[in-house]
Order: sequence, then C-alpha cells, then structure tokens
Amino acid sequence: MIAFARDGDVHNVWWTICFDRKFLNKKFDDFRTFTIAQFVAGSCFGLLTWTSDYVIDPVAAMGTIIPHVMAIVPAILWTALRKSRNYKLLETIAVLCPLPIDVTGVFIFDRLHGGAPYEPAGLLLFLLFGIIAYQGFSLVINIIYTTCVISIPHIVALLFGIDHFPHLRFAVFAWPAAAMTIIGQTMFALDYYRRHQLQLQLERESQTDPLTGVHNRRYFTPLLEMEVNRARRLHHPLSLLIFDIDHFKAINDTYGHSCGDAVIQACADLCRRDLRAIDVVARLGGEEFAILLPGTDLRQAVSVADRVRTSIQDAAMQIGANAPVRITVSVGAAECGGGLGTASDFLKRADDQLYRAKGGGRNRVCAESEPEPQARGAAAVPVAYPSGRP
Ligand code: GH3
Ligand code: MG
Ligand code: MG
Repeated sequence: MIAFARDGDVHNVWWTICFDRKFLNKKFDDFRTFTIAQFVAGSCFGLLTWTSDYVIDPVAAMGTIIPHVMAIVPAILWTALRKSRNYKLLETIAVLCPLPIDVTGVFIFDRLHGGAPYEPAGLLLFLLFGIIAYQGFSLVINIIYTTCVISIPHIVALLFGIDHFPHLRFAVFAWPAAAMTIIGQTMFALDYYRRHQLQLQLERESQTDPLTGVHNRRYFTPLLEMEVNRARRLHHPLSLLIFDIDHFKAINDTYGHSCGDAVIQACADLCRRDLRAIDVVARLGGEEFAILLPGTDLRQAVSVADRVRTSIQDAAMQIGANAPVRITVSVGAAECGGGLGTASDFLKRADDQLYRAKGGGRNRVCAESEPEPQARGAAAVPVAYPSGRP
C-alpha cells in the first residue's frame, strides 16, 4: 500500500507517524513557527467571529462577548510556549486549546437561538483549521482533535439540554467532513514521513564515503571540533590517529585502479573491526584515514595505532584473481590536551607525525611525546615507535 516504506514495513510507517518520539519532535520543530502562527491567527479569528453573532442578533450578541474573548487564550499560551521543548505539553495544549472554544460555541449557538457558529459552514472552519494547523503533530493528535471538535457539540448539547442544536443537520455535514479531514491529515502525515526519510537518506549519503562506507571529511571536520570542545570542557582525554597507505601509487600501477579501490575498502574494514563503537573512522581523501579516539590518552592511542598497523600489515588481501596483496600503513598520533589549539591545529599535529612516520621509513607509528606543546610553552619532543618491519 505504501510504496515508500523502504526502511521498514508498513506497520513501521504507521507507528512512526503516530508514536515515534524522535520523529515527532523533529516534525514539531520543522513546523514550530507555522503551528504557532496558525494558533495565534486562529485565536484572533475566534475573537472576530463575534461580528457574525452581531449580524445575526445584535442584542443577544452582547451576551456572547466574553466567550469570544476567551478565544485569545490559545494565542497567549502558544506565544508563551513558543520555544518550549516539552513536546508532550505542547501536544496536550494542541488537543485542549480548541475544546473550550468548541464548547462555548454551543452555548453561543443556544443564546442566538440556533443562529450562527455551528451552522455546518461555521463548523467546517474548525475542520479546515485541523488540516492546516495540526500538520506539525502526530497523526493521533490530528485524529483526536478532529473527532473531538465534531463530537463535543453533540455531547454538550445533549448534556445541557440545548434544544436549538440541530443534531441531524449538524451530523450529516459534520461527520462526512470529519472523515475527509482525517484522510487529508493522513495524507499530510505520510507526505512528511516520505520527505523525512529522503532527508535522512540524503544526510547519510552526504556524510558517508561511498567507496568504504566510513564517514567522510564533511562529517569528520565538525565532529572533530565538537569532540575537542567536549574533551576540554569535561577534562577527558581525546586522541587522533591519521594513517596513510604506504606506496599506494605502486598498488594502483601494478594491479590497476579497481584493485586499489578494493585495498582502500579492505583497510577501512580492518579499522572498523579493530576499534570500539565510540571510535570514529573517516576517510579524509585518497588513501588517507583519520581515527578519533574519545576517552583515550596518547599512550593508549599509540597502542591502538600499532594494533591497526599490525593487522593491516598482516592481512593478505585477496583481491580478484591476483595473488594476495600486502600493504603497510604509516600512522601519526596526537593527543588533544587542555590547551588553546583549535581542532585544525590538532589535525595538523597528527598529520605532522604521519609525515615523520613516512620520513622515518614508513610502516610505523609516530607520536608527540608531549600532548600539547603550545599549552606548556615548550616544543614537542617527537617519539617514533618503529614497527617490527622497518
Ligand atoms: P606514500 O607512501 O608516500 O604515501 O606514497 P603513495 O604512493 O601512497 O603516495 P600518495 O599518498 O601521494 O599517493 C596516493 C595515490 O592514491 C595517488 C592517487 O592516484 C591514488 N588515489 C587517490 N584516491 C584513490 C582512490 O579512490 N582509488 C584509487 N585506486 N586510488 C586513489
Ligand atoms: Mg600513501
Ligand atoms: Mg596519501
């Protein structure tokens, strides 16, 4: 039935548009300004409908002023809560706001002797409001709203013995219109879901390296900045490794570009296999990768780097019909420290160590002995951790 339910089954789609908190909070935020503007405008409109009472019965209309003034309450509430992140409260208000207006509308109707607001045409405005203003909410909220605004007039009229209320005339217009409204609300909800899925897919693709499936530089750069700030604020260690495949041009020249691609993929797979879930691997470009290690000091980072280097060195990469390809990598390591250097300084420090590892003979890990020289007013003392196979 729903062709775009690619990421799950149809049941999943309905569950998401009705109950998935993360999805619904994002949806509310996307519609936040629109929703608030609609409720404020709806309130003002409720106030102004007094003029129609006046046209119908100028004398009786003087007694309907107060209920009309009450219509401004939602505008005040929504303006006060315009920045609130309490989504449950916002949803509750969305359901409750129109109900007092709906109820008082029945009494106004009685006072005007069956005159105006709950004529079917007047009622359709409530339904129209339900389609337009409730787009930012869960489909459940939409359905509750629509069902309430249509059933409450019947209930209130019966409970309070309001004889002027034309149940049948109201019902033959209201209930089919309510069904149409719920269909409209459902279409809007499904349309938003489809756009949301596309947006997620685009975000994922824009942050992922298509060759290896690890993160790309676009994702990594802001993440690095965020992690540096977080580590400094919380005084947590944070280390960075940068590695580059040694003599990769020779792989391309000997086995061809597609074999080179497969080697890059195999490297990424080995990294992912060797790291913790909180470590972040990103391909910075070509055959150069970065590994961000939160909660890891330089000593531990060097040991992780050596583990990655060794597993790549030991892997016999079987690519196509060729003899197994063996490669090595050089790694630079740096620790963030508590100083003033920026995220790009941090990246450069790891990169400098990578170039030292290249210059020192490749297939090795190099790291600064001092985590952050700028912070201590001393120059970094580089230390090389040579491999078993220089
Ligand atoms: P070094 O040990 O100094 O790193 O030597 P190298 O040969 O690896 O030198 P360099 O890093 O400069 O070479 C990178 C090569 O990687 C050059 C480029 O043609 C190749 N390359 C970059 N991106 C890709 C890719 O996506 N696939 C393949 N197959 N090759 C790529
Ligand atoms: Mg290289
Ligand atoms: Mg390179």
